[in-house]
Amino acid sequence: MKYIDEFRDPELARQLLADIRVRSKRPVRFMEFCGGHTHAIFRHGLRQMLPPTVELRSGPGCPVCVTAHADLDRAVALAMLPGVILVTFGDMLKVPGSHGSLQTARAAGADVRIVYSALDALPIARDQPERAVIFLGVGFETTAPTVAASVLEAEARGLGNYYVLSLHKLTPPATRAILDPHPPYSPPIGGAGGVRLAGIIGPGHVTTVIGSQAWEFLPRDYGVSCAVAGFEPLDILQAVAALVEMAETGRPAVVNAYSRSVRPEGNRTALDVMYRVFEVSEAEWRGLGHVPASGLRLRPEYARFDAALAYSVDPGPTYLLPAPVPGASEHGGCRCGDVLRGTVEPPNCPLFRRVCTPARPVGPCMVSAEGACAAWYRYGTTDWERNGNGLGKERKRIGKGTEADWERNGCLTEW
Ligand code: SF4
Repeated sequence: MKYIDEFRDPELARQLLADIRVRSKRPVRFMEFCGGHTHAIFRHGLRQMLPPTVELRSGPGCPVCVTAHADLDRAVALAMLPGVILVTFGDMLKVPGSHGSLQTARAAGADVRIVYSALDALPIARDQPERAVIFLGVGFETTAPTVAASVLEAEARGLGNYYVLSLHKLTPPATRAILDPHPPYSPPIGGAGGVRLAGIIGPGHVTTVIGSQAWEFLPRDYGVSCAVAGFEPLDILQAVAALVEMAETGRPAVVNAYSRSVRPEGNRTALDVMYRVFEVSEAEWRGLGHVPASGLRLRPEYARFDAALAYSVDPGPTYLLPAPVPGASEHGGCRCGDVLRGTVEPPNCPLFRRVCTPARPVGPCMVSAEGACAAWYRYGTTDWERNGNGLGKERKRIGKGTEADWERNGCLTEW
């Protein structure tokens, strides 16, 4: 299949891996920002194939996972209002908030519906003009243009009962938040006790919209390399090879390893639509706190579509992680915030697999299809468990795999 088979060629993968092994001399840690990359890396067994000098950490690139507890509580409170239909993507339903999830709200009588696109909410608003249809807008720069398009379309159709609760987030400010040694906001995060990185695997879909130029602050301001990658195994290996090369030569830069989709300037049409409807605002991220200029709110011209302005709700007290909260649905031991900052890996969480599973998730990182905990649960813990599932075993696990293991386990043949 074009654009699939040629990016899953085992022979080319072997060549790239051999190149990485030869070039990589000193230990480096790279972060894959995007949850889609985390799952692709696990699915294709890439972590085990890399030399022990190369460590990969998951980042905050899962929109469901980084949705703040307080925002989720607000969405649940909105869903419980009489006459409201709350519309959102399926992953959001099971994420536990302080007082329950959207799924428990639905069980209690709220009208919560799943759609695949914001535009799917418009026929619902058209068919039930007596009810308010609120789209819960969660996502990065890839999703926000489509939600903006739904607002423009609702305006064109004269829909007076369509609203958006915008929880959209921008990825470059979150990356700064992870790397800033002295962030000017609270709580202290990132470089102040956070993870040290030599490079970042840039999110392919997001960068298709914002352009590879958007990452130039990484080498300029932080001395951190960036290689933008697609989601096939060769895309990711190519990005890792570029990051290793830059780490070894000490010349950080931005490399576009996804040139079939990403342009330096991005997608102007999508950006124009997004910024026509939204403006930049502060946003709260789970695990990162309040990050300036990292969110999108509706512009004053579109204020009548803003659910946050149209409906005032009291979601009750928010129980923040990781503080133990007696009687709350939140489990005090959840380490999603640390996982999203890349300071720990999911098996470091005491609840991982023992209490928290995809069937009974405790935190959003286990709920979302892009969550790091879900990826580790599904693909990543066999070696870990063989080694005792204890803290401090990461390096052993990461350095353990061989190409023979990989072929024996079917990873290459599954390609
Ligand atoms: Fe949270 Fe579950 Fe992940 Fe632990 S394993 S950090 S409880 S989502």
